[in-house]
Amino acid sequence: MNLLSEIKKGNKTALAKGITLLESSLESDRKLADNLIKECLNHKSKAIRIGITGTPGVGKSTFIESFGNLLINNGLKVAVLAIDPSSAETKGSILGDKSRMIKLSSNKNAFIRPSSNKGELGGINTKTRESIILCETGGYDIILIETVGVGQSEISISNITDFLLLLILPESGDELQGIKRGINEIADAVIVNKSDGNNIERAKKTYLHYKNSLTLSSIPNNLWEVRTGICSALNNTGINEIWKMIQEYIRKSKEHDYFNEKRRKQDVFWLSEEIKREYGYKKYEALKKEGIITKYNKQILSNDSNIYDILKLI
Ligand code: GDP
Repeated sequence: MNLLSEIKKGNKTALAKGITLLESSLESDRKLADNLIKECLNHKSKAIRIGITGTPGVGKSTFIESFGNLLINNGLKVAVLAIDPSSAETKGSILGDKSRMIKLSSNKNAFIRPSSNKGELGGINTKTRESIILCETGGYDIILIETVGVGQSEISISNITDFLLLLILPESGDELQGIKRGINEIADAVIVNKSDGNNIERAKKTYLHYKNSLTLSSIPNNLWEVRTGICSALNNTGINEIWKMIQEYIRKSKEHDYFNEKRRKQDVFWLSEEIKREYGYKKYEALKKEGIITKYNKQILSNDSNIYDILKLI
């Protein structure tokens, strides 16, 4: 089977195989994976990449089930990359085998791919970025990337997505401790989930607290202030409002050309990561000292070159 043409046709098995190839550490697969990703880079896609993060149990999978079905009902194709933070020590997985996203996974317009991060800090790696590109080649309009909000993961996920949604739980008055430092600088929206049943009052209080405290802009020139809101992924309330909000963000960031600028800045980040991974930190430092990294970064920022062409030159 020709993977590329099958992926382009929308064949989900081929897409899954392609991602497995990207994740493979076999030397013989590396070349095939490199060729595949380069071909996919030629494919122009208008897909939107949305990150969903939050602590285990906050309702990320339930949210994606509701949100994904809403998107599909709007005529969109949805790919979900769920990054499983299985720990190297326990070999266990936080996701476990609980049945996740049952309705969504059986929909022909959805593709769901759980990926292990193989104990890498942050949960997101260059393979995640390449998997996104493959999904986009497969014709998916919205790519949802789910990570567990532990430690570094929020930072890495913001380097891979156009919009980052942080889900939090309703808290009681004295528990309100503020969101982890730095998160308000990278999350584009903070939404209190589980706003239903006995939780509604607490959810509203939590929401109001953050609404007043999160006023920082996540994009320059005050184009966007971190939004707050409430939803119930379980009862499907507030989900449509979140989609409208994301569309507003995308519209605004495109109007001001921030959308492309952000993607190029992300490529600059990933170029450095790739060089460190492929050639080691020492080599990276040496290239930096010689001013070569700065030169490549400029090429990426001005859209003159892409990561893969540059890596060939090193
Ligand atoms: P994840 O670990 O963040 O993916 O969380 P899950 O989606 O697996 O949800 C964890 C638990 O919270 C499950 O028992 C869900 O049924 C429940 N849950 C998720 N969303 C909601 C919600 O909006 N309201 C209520 N009451 N429970 C929810």
